[in-house]
Amino acid sequence: MRLARVFLPLAALLLGSTAMAQAASGIDAALGPVRGPLHIIGAGTGCIVGAQQLPHVGLGYTVIRAPISSFWGAPVTLFGVETLAAEARADGLPELYVGDLSGPRGGPLSGGHVAHQRGVDVDIYLDTQPKPNLPASALNRLAPPLIVPYGATQVDPAQWSSQTVTLIHLATQLPGLNRLLVNPVIKRQLCDSVTGDRSWLHKVRPWWGHRGHMHLHFACPAGQTDCVDQAPIPAGDGCDASLAWWFNADGSVRVPPPSAPGAQPPTLPVACDAILGPGGSALPAGAEAD
Ligand SMILES: [Zn+2]
Repeated sequence: MRLARVFLPLAALLLGSTAMAQAASGIDAALGPVRGPLHIIGAGTGCIVGAQQLPHVGLGYTVIRAPISSFWGAPVTLFGVETLAAEARADGLPELYVGDLSGPRGGPLSGGHVAHQRGVDVDIYLDTQPKPNLPASALNRLAPPLIVPYGATQVDPAQWSSQTVTLIHLATQLPGLNRLLVNPVIKRQLCDSVTGDRSWLHKVRPWWGHRGHMHLHFACPAGQTDCVDQAPIPAGDGCDASLAWWFNADGSVRVPPPSAPGAQPPTLPVACDAILGPGGSALPAGAEAD
């Protein structure tokens, strides 16, 4: 029960339904960013002034599904992506695929992302296979392979390698990284296999979904007093009862808890109204999270 009380507010933030896509379209992403000094507002839900756009192609990475994704963020997030891609490349890993960051002004994204609202989140795919030279039309529709297929209780050995571990390890070392979310099966795989220095497992946290990608969440940058960080991660490597909680007796991962009857959807800070415009003042309930 204690765990459930901790998880449910987070679930309200990170879970959702397909209705999200329609409701979120009230925010006009075509408005572009609000120019000015960086100003991040909110705690989970929120918005951003002064966001920068990640180039769609950079050293060691390319974005995918560009027509339905957003690649705006705080400088710490863009630096994190570019650093990770360069370091992965230097370690001999293939090009990385990058998914959603945030909208140009933050707020809820179309497609079900209830996180990714403040420019401090990014999805990086865990696919470490050599990448073919795909045309933009194929990248725009790409669905990278899942590390944890639906219904599986173990990682797919065809998709898991020492390079997967290297990629996650490198990400945990990025400046300003607050935490990194992966499927509980991936976290358990790391717990069971990483030897030597295991301190970096601390920032790798289990969450629903995330079968083919990791979600990097950066801490509020210095001086961003309207940006509220999540509660600190408990001490230790997380390979303990808090991980065991995610698994049923048959080895399957728990299903997300249903929304409480009458639960109100998370709302955006009032200060975001002027940034996001009409339609950005409330979020729909639900969402397939990532
Ligand atoms: Zn994500």
